[in-house]
Amino acid sequence: MSTSTFGCRGGWTARVLRAAMTLLFVPVTSCGSETAPDIPQQPANQQACLTGAVFGELANSPYCLPWAEGETYAVGQSYCSPPPGSHQTRYAYDFLMPLGTEIRNVRAGEVVELREQYADDDRTGGHENMLSLRHDDETISIYMHLRYQGVAVSMGDWVPQGALLGWSGNTGDPAGIPHLHFQICLRSGLCSYTTQEITLPVNFRNAEGSFTAAGGLALGERYTAAVCR
Ligand SMILES: [Zn+2]
Repeated sequence: MSTSTFGCRGGWTARVLRAAMTLLFVPVTSCGSETAPDIPQQPANQQACLTGAVFGELANSPYCLPWAEGETYAVGQSYCSPPPGSHQTRYAYDFLMPLGTEIRNVRAGEVVELREQYADDDRTGGHENMLSLRHDDETISIYMHLRYQGVAVSMGDWVPQGALLGWSGNTGDPAGIPHLHFQICLRSGLCSYTTQEITLPVNFRNAEGSFTAAGGLALGERYTAAVCR
């Protein structure tokens, strides 16, 4: 993850700013040889995804599970999952849950995108009702396949961790198995399915269940949400 300073470890924004300052004849400390931008790349394939699956200590995770305390749901598709699933190169989870399950906020953040106009069970790709929040570190959380009019917050709201975000649905998924797709993206603009998508391996500090050797949530396992402290 890049820093947000004008220093040598800045991302492309910092590089552009340094270049602009140089053009304006503002003295800029040399950063030595400039190499490729330090934006991480989306894994090229499932194996690269698995290699990059480094999860921090569970107790230190800033995230709590996206459902209410005491409830239990299974993972229908985990991170870096093989075809025919769509997570081969993504650190994303599909949580199997009945229509209308309350979705809780994994981490405090600002609502930056939402869609809730599509009908449940229309089985049309691109018709996912969804919600995105931006967090303090510029990362973006995404919740997909919410039900028709299934968003309980508004654009620009600052939503505390654990608060109600909306209700699960079955929108936009041709397979038609009700679930919540959840992922964290590095930052805005790096979440698109059709362009570059940089997702981050995350776990949830209030999750109770069996984890993968890497520390992530495992395919087919059930997880119970403990109190989110
Ligand atoms: Zn998914």
